[in-house]
Amino acid sequence: MTAAHDVLLIGGGAAGLRAAIAISESDADLDVAVISKVYPMRSHTVSAEGGAAGAIAEDDSIEEHIYDTISGSDWLGDQDAIETFVNDAPRQLLQLEHWGCPWSRQPSGKIAVRPFGGMKKKRTWYAADKTGFHLLHTLFQTSLKYGALTRYDEWFVTKLLVDEGRAYGVVAIELSTGKIHTITAKSLVLATGGCGKVFPFTTNANINTGDGMALAYRAGAPLKDMEFVQYHPTGLPFTGILITEAARAEGGWLINKDGYRFLQDYDLGKPTPEPQLRSMELGPRDRVSQAIVGEIQKGRAIETPYGQVVHLDLRHLGEKKIEERIPFVRELCLKYERIDPVTELIPVRPVVHYMMGGVHTDLDGLTGIEGLYAAGETACVSINGANRLGSNSLPECLVFGARAGRSAAQFATAHPDTTLPAAISAQAADETRRLTELIGRDGSEQVSQIREQMQHTMEGAAGIYRNADDLGKGMEVLAELQERMAKTGVADAGGPFNTELTAALELANLLDIAQTMLHSAMERTESRGAHQRTDFPARDDDRFLTHQLVYREPDGSSRLEQLPVTITRWPPGERVYGR
Ligand SMILES: Cc1cc2nc3c(=O)[nH]c(=O)nc-3n(C[C@H](O)[C@H](O)[C@H](O)COP(=O)(O)OP(=O)(O)OC[C@H]3O[C@@H](n4cnc5c(N)ncnc54)[C@H](O)[C@@H]3O)c2cc1C
Repeated sequence: MTAAHDVLLIGGGAAGLRAAIAISESDADLDVAVISKVYPMRSHTVSAEGGAAGAIAEDDSIEEHIYDTISGSDWLGDQDAIETFVNDAPRQLLQLEHWGCPWSRQPSGKIAVRPFGGMKKKRTWYAADKTGFHLLHTLFQTSLKYGALTRYDEWFVTKLLVDEGRAYGVVAIELSTGKIHTITAKSLVLATGGCGKVFPFTTNANINTGDGMALAYRAGAPLKDMEFVQYHPTGLPFTGILITEAARAEGGWLINKDGYRFLQDYDLGKPTPEPQLRSMELGPRDRVSQAIVGEIQKGRAIETPYGQVVHLDLRHLGEKKIEERIPFVRELCLKYERIDPVTELIPVRPVVHYMMGGVHTDLDGLTGIEGLYAAGETACVSINGANRLGSNSLPECLVFGARAGRSAAQFATAHPDTTLPAAISAQAADETRRLTELIGRDGSEQVSQIREQMQHTMEGAAGIYRNADDLGKGMEVLAELQERMAKTGVADAGGPFNTELTAALELANLLDIAQTMLHSAMERTESRGAHQRTDFPARDDDRFLTHQLVYREPDGSSRLEQLPVTITRWPPGERVYGR
């Protein structure tokens, strides 16, 4: 089957659905479609817990949110993008309120805001600790109002159709039947989320395999800042399930095996009896994760069967507060660790959480390919630079999802011609042939084994601390894994829900992304934010106040280019916390 639409959104999470609504709002006559490899409400956005930042408190200001984000990014975020983001975030969050999002409130009835890591004012809006669930529901139910919206739920995109630098559509598998289809559109928005599954231990859903980044990269668009991978300090040790930063925002402490609040030893402030803004537990994620590694190295962590951990202590908060503000934290601990945080300590360790890098875009979501836009975690505008502040991602999806949607709508309106170049039909036919040949082919290599080796290689080479030796060895292993990948097959010849096929396609995407991460990390011979090189421990603004763009070469290798960071009003400075 071949279908045609005006605009095609790839991804049904926060960014994709916000873009869809923006398009329908800007021109109700446009024929819009959303394609998603899972039912939209299962997108990873649903699992966001802690909240979404937007400066509305009386003692807060746009300027301060901008500054915290710039400093949090270790000056690698583009300041024009950050200004655009911070100015629009409160409007977007209020718009969600009008669409029905049940934001938590103060007793006065005003929106409640909580403190979050690296933010010096309370500005994180929340819906208890199920913010993503409510936010995504709100967007989903709002999107249903628009009759012109076609949905392709449980369809998996395998290729972007691009000719002469312009995007025309995709090839996708309808998972329930296994049929392969071509869908064309005048413009497209990639909103495919993150890629935590490059690593073995992550808070990310199994579907977060960076498909959009790999699709764009192969189609010729550059990726940006791929060396910056965020570790969240508090994951449950076995599953990697996230214990939200809201637990510390509500007053939780991080302690080592001696019951000592160790963050005071890492230049993140002094202990305060009450939860405080600027308290050391609310340091930025890069610094807090690095401090936990410090405790492990000093022998002050706790051994468990699933690695060394520190403890998150919520006991002093009391049952009432835990139930009211962070009930999901208690639920997760009870279900997955069989411990009750009201009376027991929670074991936690740093866990891969978020990808700062992604498909390079301008402020309107335009990628390096005409007609192709990107937004959300798959994109890199960049507002997050070397380290994202918690609760900036959900509003980023809203602000830049809406902008990308509007730009894609304008592009579609300005390019009404639906004639497709011959090369596009040929590409679609090639892709259909490739997929058909893959299905039922016996392979000498196992997808699961290659995936496991890739994940462990990445943890060893590009974890919280990196060095040239490990990165170099990691790159060699990845090259071998790429060769082995070519020898995998998909023994299951069945059509409906062929999970062996999707696992193979996802792994191919992960491998390409992993390669861009290691190459970028190798070339950035400095330490900044989440990228810490033990062999180059200092930040080097003279050489590296730049983004790195990664391009794919025809032989499959990657090539890097530097792109200066946009500095408007805030010259690079020291990152100061807890003072
Ligand atoms: C556990 C957890 C908690 C978090 N908590 C917070 C928080 O409190 N505050 C905050 O600001 N941020 C938080 N984040 C980060 C934030 O939730 C995400 O960055 C954001 O939701 C990403 O949204 P998205 O729309 O870009 O992608 P997603 O929500 O991941 O959606 C991706 C979409 O793309 C589709 N897709 C992917 N590949 C394909 C393909 N090949 N074919 C078809 N469709 C495809 C998927 O089906 C899905 O619909 C959290 C993240 C995690 C993992």
